Amino acid sequence: MSTTALEHKKLLINNEWRDASGGKTMEVINPATEEVIATVASAGRSDLDEAVMAARAALNGPWGKMSARERGRLVSKLADRLLEKADEVARLETLHNGKPIFESRQIEIPAAAECFEYYAGWADKITGETIPVKGNYLTYTLREPLGIVAAIVPWNFPLLLAAWKVAPALACGNVVILKPASQTPLTAIALGEIAVEVGLPPGVLNVLTGPGSSLGQAIVEHPGIDKIAFTGDTSTGKGIMRAAADTLKKITLELGGKSPNIVLADADIDAALRGATTGIFYGKGEVCAAGSRLLVDTSIKDQFMEKLAARARKMVAGDPLDPKTRYGALASRKQLETVERYVGIAKAEGATLVAGGARADIGTGKGYFFQPTVFDHVAPDSTISREEIFGPVLATIAFADLDEAIALANASQYGLAAAVWTRDVKKAHYVARKLQAGTVWINTYNVYDTAAPFGGYKASGFGREMSAHALEHYTQVKSVWVDLNM
Ligand code: NAD
Repeated sequence: MSTTALEHKKLLINNEWRDASGGKTMEVINPATEEVIATVASAGRSDLDEAVMAARAALNGPWGKMSARERGRLVSKLADRLLEKADEVARLETLHNGKPIFESRQIEIPAAAECFEYYAGWADKITGETIPVKGNYLTYTLREPLGIVAAIVPWNFPLLLAAWKVAPALACGNVVILKPASQTPLTAIALGEIAVEVGLPPGVLNVLTGPGSSLGQAIVEHPGIDKIAFTGDTSTGKGIMRAAADTLKKITLELGGKSPNIVLADADIDAALRGATTGIFYGKGEVCAAGSRLLVDTSIKDQFMEKLAARARKMVAGDPLDPKTRYGALASRKQLETVERYVGIAKAEGATLVAGGARADIGTGKGYFFQPTVFDHVAPDSTISREEIFGPVLATIAFADLDEAIALANASQYGLAAAVWTRDVKKAHYVARKLQAGTVWINTYNVYDTAAPFGGYKASGFGREMSAHALEHYTQVKSVWVDLNM
């Protein structure tokens, strides 16, 4: 599984590849082999200033003057070129994140390309309105871009979550500074390469790599940036909200989750078992919407747990670059240690371990692999019921009736996603309405489409990504009044 060393990667500012002005670099590690696979420039404040200047010049220059249709055509070319390079980009995604190449190549990269394709279509359909006001006036609205958007993304779906921000931002006529997570900068850089290849004017998409604590913080505080589109940890999001207040930046926050996956007694049990498994173990559980709390009707729980534990034990970690692998390595040593710590806490708090619970070895003695882990008899107020682990650890809680299931599901600070499994159509819709979550799946889990909005209730953030709703977050409305009095 050895991987050939990749070259040093630079910052993209004004369509030029530059080293950080301070000369700093960061190492990128393959979590499946623990090898350093690349170095990237680590941007400082003066690099950020240059990116902001380049972005502003693009906004006031060719990009700002370009017709919406032409802009849409360029965004569409991003989609096409990304698909042409899908093999290469998927490989990078797997190398720095540890996810199976199957997921990168078949799911994430195509979804990112589709996001660009979808918003390319919106570019020339973003319109204002004429408004019938009192008095003799022509009053209409213009829907204008915000200006410079900073997209700050996490390491779990590095390219897809960048696409969710960059695509609508560009389609609406904004310019972008993209900051990937320190652990996973390679596919954001690849997107920058594609932007240059398809002819995005200089300064329209800038890619700055660097640590969140310094570069990220500097972005949030920078007076020249108009909006922060952030996906990441809830505590980071709170800090961003505080810091952005000083310059009154617009912000959208996609934050953490502890999503309930509810199995009613009348569910199609095989389908629910599949949904419970993919709900938590897809993406190694490093998925913001992971179904990390399994709520099962007491009457079917024992039988359900037996089958679920058997399924979990069958999911064996493998080399992420092997096309047959369906379960990869956790994204970093830090993440592996976090998962181990939570498993220890769950045991200490009295939960019953029914599958996994330990590191996994794929035969190399290397890599941040962890077994798919299932806990039963988890107390609703215990740590693993409340806190996001962001790893392959499932907390199971039994319920006696529908109202208890709903109460348990909603007893969380988070509200990103939820699911219910039942054959009863009335119950399904009743539960969907009662759940405090931005997405509710009925008899399915982890399905997404660029045309459908995604985002959080409660501490899972605010604003919506994807769909027409995201356009609201990348534009502002201007009212224009014309005196028609003769
Ligand atoms: P994180 O908050 O540590 O980092 C996210 C990004 O923010 C990174 O690019 C990081 O460098 C940057 N950052 C860190 N500190 C910063 C600061 N002070 N100012 C500005 N930027 C800063 O999160 P993570 O560990 O990379 O990602 C995991 C979290 O992301 C989980 O909580 C997960 O639930 C959440 N997530 C949410 C969604 C969603 O759509 N709601 C999707 C994926 C992940």
